[in-house]
Amino acid sequence: MRLSQMLFVTLRENPAEAEIPSHQLLLRAGYIRRIGSGIYAYLPLMWRVLQKVSQIVREEMNATGAQECLLPQIQPAELWRESGRWDTYTKAEGIMFALTDRQERELGLGPTHEEVITTIAKEMIRSYRQLPLNLYQIQTKFRDEIRPRFGLMRGREFIMKDGYSFHTDEASLKQTYQDMYQAYNNILNRCGLAFRPVEADSGAIGGSGSQEFMILADAGEDEVLYTEDGKYSANVEKAVSLPPDTEPSTFTSYEQLETPKTPTIESVCQLLKCSPTQVVKNVLYQAIYDNGITVLVLLIIRGDQDVNEVKLQNELVRLAEQYNAKNLLALTVPDAEAQGKWAAKPLPLGYMAPDLADDYIKSAPDVAPKFLRLVDQTAVELKNFVTGSNESNYHVVGANWGEQFQLPKLVVDVRKVKAGDRATHDPSQILQTARGIEAGHIFQLGTKYSQAMGATCTNEQGEEIPLYMGCYGVGVSRVAQAAVEQSHDKDGIIWPVAIAPYHVIVVVPNVGDKQQMEVAEKLYSDLNQAGIETLLDDRNERAGVKFKDADLIGIPYRIVTGRSLKNGKVEVVERATKNSQELLVEEVVSTLKQWIFE
Ligand code: ATP
Ligand code: MG
Repeated sequence: MRLSQMLFVTLRENPAEAEIPSHQLLLRAGYIRRIGSGIYAYLPLMWRVLQKVSQIVREEMNATGAQECLLPQIQPAELWRESGRWDTYTKAEGIMFALTDRQERELGLGPTHEEVITTIAKEMIRSYRQLPLNLYQIQTKFRDEIRPRFGLMRGREFIMKDGYSFHTDEASLKQTYQDMYQAYNNILNRCGLAFRPVEADSGAIGGSGSQEFMILADAGEDEVLYTEDGKYSANVEKAVSLPPDTEPSTFTSYEQLETPKTPTIESVCQLLKCSPTQVVKNVLYQAIYDNGITVLVLLIIRGDQDVNEVKLQNELVRLAEQYNAKNLLALTVPDAEAQGKWAAKPLPLGYMAPDLADDYIKSAPDVAPKFLRLVDQTAVELKNFVTGSNESNYHVVGANWGEQFQLPKLVVDVRKVKAGDRATHDPSQILQTARGIEAGHIFQLGTKYSQAMGATCTNEQGEEIPLYMGCYGVGVSRVAQAAVEQSHDKDGIIWPVAIAPYHVIVVVPNVGDKQQMEVAEKLYSDLNQAGIETLLDDRNERAGVKFKDADLIGIPYRIVTGRSLKNGKVEVVERATKNSQELLVEEVVSTLKQWIFE
């Protein structure tokens, strides 16, 4: 391609809308344009990158025996009602764009395709002989993200490879899951990315697990915890560890003390000269279930620990049945306004005790009359602890479970793991932290969707069984941008060769110079003929401008038909290192072939 004929516009300044380097660079280098919030046009250079990433994904998926298909993006609401996700996706989470057609039928724009694929499986799979089956597609997905940001990283329209597998049993599912694990490693390796597979939260579905593939980058939205021995890595949402040891209590007898202006753990510990590990902290949450019932949760946890809200959410989903609900719609720390809706009197905030009385809750039809009391493991073993007294500006010290306070029956693990904690597999290993961009997620779904939607088959014994299912997603457009986040410098993008839009850019410093143009034209045509994807910068611009642009768009090799021509040579610069060397014109094609393809 000739730059003179391309839609090629680069920007000198960082666009105000972009916060992170990869977003800034893709805008500045003319790869993408913002059309609306979370909605981007992929311009020709970007489209080439996306196609390369897609092709790598496709090759690795095909190598496992998976088959490509293409499913509809417009999905009937009935399918989502069958699986029970319509209301959660359109109303509660609101992540799905929903519309009504001219016949008044409700439809959604596909954020994911479990419903569609399970319907197909239900209709087409009759017998175990047709299994296992693994189908995938590469397609634009739609999600009405609350906070679209960072360009393609979190768009409302983005490209995903999603795959779904069906099995007669868990063993077969596990086999395909392993194949997908390997395929995802291959994909990210081939894209030239530094990444880490981590254990991931599978929500309350349970199943035997899920893993995320994290591309390591400081701008990543996810926190990853891992050990140096390589034996453990997990998303912080899922991570487990041993909490730091408790310091022995300095109090020996139970009493109530005046502790003015100490609503925080830090302030009360300072006043009482005690360790936060001796404090029982009582945190109030408000859960709203899908049947409209509000449940007030009093969570008890050791003072030095924070709550992992994802783990707490999973616990609350598991308890949904107890409140005649199926799912949790929202979990928040209730602010004053929210408290106003259910509190019968002002709460002793900052001074609450584990026995906060249920009469703080107004009697109302849509509010559970009692606190749901949960205790985190870290608080169970505490002796002679410090906690609130349900009276502002007073705490109690030297308290014990079974004496002044009753230990709640529901013991949970909802503490947030922190860097520096000891690992459970080997307490001498200390957890380290890193930031990551979630590139892919593989998931053993089990029978959740097949049971909800009635997708069954007959097994060898002739019995009707629900299909086991796995699902596997990789964000093609997110991966492409993450590559830039991981690989750039002050001058621009440095594409890994495997996904660069072009391999080489031939820059003519002076298009008025006949010899420069002739050699450039010949190289341009020879390189392309040899399968080396080449751009020709034949614009009538200053050499300096062209060099800057070449650096900005990040093409791996730049060839300059400049001064060295008098010796029959051209300058070849490697973008990543800026190393430059002169090559004889006739050796250019063979040398670059080696560099690029070997
Ligand atoms: P996240 O937690 O980042 O929202 P997710 O758990 O919703 O991701 P999945 O539903 O597992 O993601 O989708 C599979 C993959 O699609 C993700 O691993 C990610 O690479 C990509 N992806 C998800 N949401 C977006 C988005 N809004 N923009 C771009 N890529 C996305
Ligand atoms: Mg998401």
